[in-house]
Amino acid sequence: MTATARTATPDRTDVIVVGAGPVGLLLAGDLRRAGARVTVLEQLTAPTTESRASTLHTRTMEILAERGVLDRLGPLPDGGPGHFGGLPLDLRTAVPGHPYAGQWKCPQTRLEAALHTWATGLGAWVRRGHAVTGLHQYPDRVVVSGIELGAGPRRFAASYVVGCDGERSTVRQLAGFDFPGDDATLEMLRADVAGIGIPDRRFERHPHGLATAHRWPDGTTRVMVHLHGTPPGPRTGPPSFDEVVAAWAKVTGEDIGHGTPVWLNAFDDTTRQADRYVKGRVVLAGDAAHVQMPVGGQALNLGLQDAAALGHRLAALATGRPAEAGAGLDDYDRLRHRVGARTLTGIRAQSRLLLGGPEVEGLRAVLAELLGLDQAQGHLARAISGVDLLPPHDTQGAAA
Ligand SMILES: Cc1cc2nc3c(=O)[nH]c(=O)nc-3n(C[C@H](O)[C@H](O)[C@H](O)COP(=O)(O)OP(=O)(O)OC[C@H]3O[C@@H](n4cnc5c(N)ncnc54)[C@H](O)[C@@H]3O)c2cc1C
Repeated sequence: MTATARTATPDRTDVIVVGAGPVGLLLAGDLRRAGARVTVLEQLTAPTTESRASTLHTRTMEILAERGVLDRLGPLPDGGPGHFGGLPLDLRTAVPGHPYAGQWKCPQTRLEAALHTWATGLGAWVRRGHAVTGLHQYPDRVVVSGIELGAGPRRFAASYVVGCDGERSTVRQLAGFDFPGDDATLEMLRADVAGIGIPDRRFERHPHGLATAHRWPDGTTRVMVHLHGTPPGPRTGPPSFDEVVAAWAKVTGEDIGHGTPVWLNAFDDTTRQADRYVKGRVVLAGDAAHVQMPVGGQALNLGLQDAAALGHRLAALATGRPAEAGAGLDDYDRLRHRVGARTLTGIRAQSRLLLGGPEVEGLRAVLAELLGLDQAQGHLARAISGVDLLPPHDTQGAAA
């Protein structure tokens, strides 16, 4: 659990957040708003430019609006009605008339840039080029050790540490959280391709698999393809373009091999959730706490909503105001674990409906019929939008 470190006196703060992804940055800003000193340790020396999530749901939009981050993002395009496992589901039915009803498009890179400016503007100290490699809990503090790029070993101490360090979370492993779940059984390949002219399509089902294509404003086309009956192979990196081209041809009959790949990626239905989100003075949030198929943007939204539920509670504890923390971290653990488990169940259902072959046709037909009922539609739309299961105190952030 402990790594050797040469630094004699570790820097001391109230909360260390490991990971400057969207979840870590939102949390850091919230901690500052509630008066806690916060240091964010991030291994990357610069923000990632990788294309990732792009969908924001109603509750997330509220969270960003409450903190003034939405204004920093400027107008966001409407993301259209939504889906459940590829079946039409109008997310606007979650809270009809709500200013953020539905879903909204925002590239994750843009969101992270806005969150970074906001959090550092509030006084969060984001230290890039710091990879965390060790962690030790004491009765009154946690000591985190790591490597500062170009400078060597470093140590930091805080009252609490939050692992916002993504699906392979070092913090989760170092603190010994169990991470039960299921390995992948289904996989989807995707690529942004320049120089091809194929029609847009959404979740088009074919005998050999599923195909989606969407032309971005810059002229590249995002293709996503799943081949029925092909289990995910062991991957150490993205798929080759040849693999995407072959899968696309088999499913759709179209040749996109003359295009130029700008980005290649594969994702699968691995599903895991930490058995709890709090262990002593170590807390998990975002992908560090739960790994799921990134279907419908729920991975990002779930993580941001974790952070929003944690910040004010943790700040109260870390700054010696336990009365303001209520049930404190137990509350966070219970609430967000329950929401996470439910969301992961929904995502698993969606991944099977979306990527299953002929064997799921009957299920899809029955569900499509049920989704024709307002009550069923509204129920699922509220769950995906993050606006149910929400006690009133979770709509409150800390004072700005
Ligand atoms: C290629 C890709 C495509 C995706 N596409 C989608 C999508 O289409 N839809 C969707 O909803 N979601 C998608 N996701 C998932 C979505 O991006 C995540 O849910 C979201 O980024 C979670 O945010 P996070 O802050 O919890 O973790 P992350 O964004 O993973 O951030 C974790 C941060 O911690 C840092 N870190 C890790 N280990 C250490 C360490 N030891 N020391 C210091 N820093 C560390 C990392 O460098 C990183 O910056 C995608 C993810 C990837 C990787």
